[in-house]
Amino acid sequence: MLNDAELLRYSRHLLLEDVGETGQLALKNAKVLIIGMGGLGSPASLYLAAAGIGHLVLSDFDSIEVSNLQRQITYQSDDVGDSKVEVTKRKLQQINPEIKVRSINKSMQADQLTMELTMADLVLDCTDNMQSRQLINKACVDAKVPLIVGAAIRFEGQLMFFDHSEADSPCYHCLFPSSEEQTLNCSNSGIIGPVVGTIGTLQALEVIKYFVGLPSGIKNKLKLFDGKTLDWQTFVINKDPTCKVCGHL
Ligand SMILES: [Zn+2]
Repeated sequence: MLNDAELLRYSRHLLLEDVGETGQLALKNAKVLIIGMGGLGSPASLYLAAAGIGHLVLSDFDSIEVSNLQRQITYQSDDVGDSKVEVTKRKLQQINPEIKVRSINKSMQADQLTMELTMADLVLDCTDNMQSRQLINKACVDAKVPLIVGAAIRFEGQLMFFDHSEADSPCYHCLFPSSEEQTLNCSNSGIIGPVVGTIGTLQALEVIKYFVGLPSGIKNKLKLFDGKTLDWQTFVINKDPTCKVCGHL
């Protein structure tokens, strides 16, 4: 049961047939791990806290720099130099004191990630590099935890959803088998704020849909967003039976 304060706070969710009190309780019981509190993690965490995801775990090892403020909308000029996860945690609790927020102020290695995944219902990959994405993907495949991946560079965004609780799910490594090829990142190539904001916001939307039981439109698909034309391209991601991470051969 939701209490009176929650009924008021989430009244616009409760009006939706697809959410209702059952859906809101599912959000309240959800545990989501968000890795990376930059341009993707900012809007994703703000929306998920506001939506009432009951347990949020935030992971990032960075402190806030002036050059982050152009797109990482959780942070203000006064926050420069402070820890991203600590500032985000404080702001999420200001938005919604009803939820629990925990911060991990370091770069998680495989062991800690594996331990965190035993407590997570779903993971949002909001990191900015291929090496981290491969590490997170492998951990989620091994732990059978659903993974929503966002990425953005210049005017382009990528969005994918892999439900690793399903045995026949493809994985990020099926799509990008090499981690060496792509060295582009926002630091050396640039990024438009609203593009990364669009992708992070859609990651949050997919999380909400997942927990209220709505089907995802992006499961096992790569969605590519072009911020210049506002066109989307969709590619089906097939499982690679020889994949080193999720293959059975
Ligand atoms: Zn795979």
